[in-house]
Amino acid sequence: MQAAEGRSVAIDEMDREMERGLRRLRFSDPVEAVFLREYLKSRARMVPLWAFLGTLLYLVAILGDLSMMPDVAPTVIALRLGLFLPYAVAVVWIMRRWPSPATYDRLALGVGLLGLSLPMVMLVFSRSDHLFVYQTGSVGTLAFFVIVLRPRFPTVLAGLAAMVAIQIATTGLNGSFDAVTYSGIVSFHITLGIFLALSAYFAERVDRQNFLNRLRGEALQAQLTALSERDPMTGLYNRHSLRRSRHAIWAPGTARTISLLMLDIDSFKLYNDVHGHVDGDACIQRVSDIVRKQVDEQGTVFRYGGEEILILLPDTGQAPALSVAEAIRQAIEGAAIRHDGLPGGGVVTVSLGVATGRTDADDLEELLRRADTALYAAKGAGRNRARLADPEASLPASAIGRPSP
Ligand code: GH3
Ligand code: MG
Ligand code: MG
Repeated sequence: MQAAEGRSVAIDEMDREMERGLRRLRFSDPVEAVFLREYLKSRARMVPLWAFLGTLLYLVAILGDLSMMPDVAPTVIALRLGLFLPYAVAVVWIMRRWPSPATYDRLALGVGLLGLSLPMVMLVFSRSDHLFVYQTGSVGTLAFFVIVLRPRFPTVLAGLAAMVAIQIATTGLNGSFDAVTYSGIVSFHITLGIFLALSAYFAERVDRQNFLNRLRGEALQAQLTALSERDPMTGLYNRHSLRRSRHAIWAPGTARTISLLMLDIDSFKLYNDVHGHVDGDACIQRVSDIVRKQVDEQGTVFRYGGEEILILLPDTGQAPALSVAEAIRQAIEGAAIRHDGLPGGGVVTVSLGVATGRTDADDLEELLRRADTALYAAKGAGRNRARLADPEASLPASAIGRPSP
């Protein structure tokens, strides 16, 4: 139950994130950390492919340099091969060596800036008639940076601002465009920069929304599973989830020893009559807590009926199962929960029936029947005791439990 409540807090937290974290493109720290882990994974996976394809396209542009900027082509080609190519190789290596979201964003920024500036800086010194083509080439670099590399929004914003500024400045410094054409180029790149920035903002918002929806769906699913298999009052497994344990323990082809403990609170009708149903519920909760603590990792505890608890102890033989039953009985008696309905006053006690079998010979129903019969034998013998289903193998009654006062 506690786990389920913990998750529901997490779901509330996510709902709040929905409202505030999306617009600012930043979740609260724990959610942001999970988002960034996924961000890094998805981006890092693509780095080798984009480094290869991006560099290939970038080097194919050498053909354009030769025909459209022949006067400065040797330098542009030397820069493409001597600077961009090693940078792309370094990006792959650095992302392997020091992968982090910030590293990725910085490296992507470098790709954008370097990719755009290398030809544009050389364009300043070219007197070719075909320089207009480099306006469209830069659009490709901007799109590669924003749409393919997809760094986080602040990096996109910084990169676009710097790239558009470099584009406008280098084109202006070249000076071969007349004033009208130049103003057209300037407004085109500013508009393009704004549109790309807007699209990057909304793309990251959708990414974050999808991430949150998935996280929320997983948390709800886990909460639902926890709720469907637990009894809400005691937090014990419910009877419905017994089926799952049966499948696990009675798996085909396995032969395991298994013990069943069936526990029933003694004279509980009387407890309700005297203390009332609210205290009755609290009493069942206390008893459940004690049983859970006693059984711990050894087995699984189910609320089988109203005040009946079933304990499955896989790979546990008769003698250790009886010891567990006796420990539970003593712990509950030792908790000294007042039972004013008993003559002369007394404390809440329980009776237990213990059945042991093998999964290849006895099915669950058979063991339940035997544990039930043993439980009723314990009740008949005076309550506050544990009884084995197989009387020949049982310990003397005196060693098993004491009659209730
Ligand atoms: P015995 O010692 O023979 O077991 O006597 P008993 O009075 O305990 O008899 P039995 O086990 O048949 O009675 C179970 C009672 O437990 C009946 C019902 O009123 C009560 N009970 C079952 N579920 C709940 C519950 O969720 N809350 C409360 N307060 N009482 C419950
Ligand atoms: Mg009962
Ligand atoms: Mg009872």
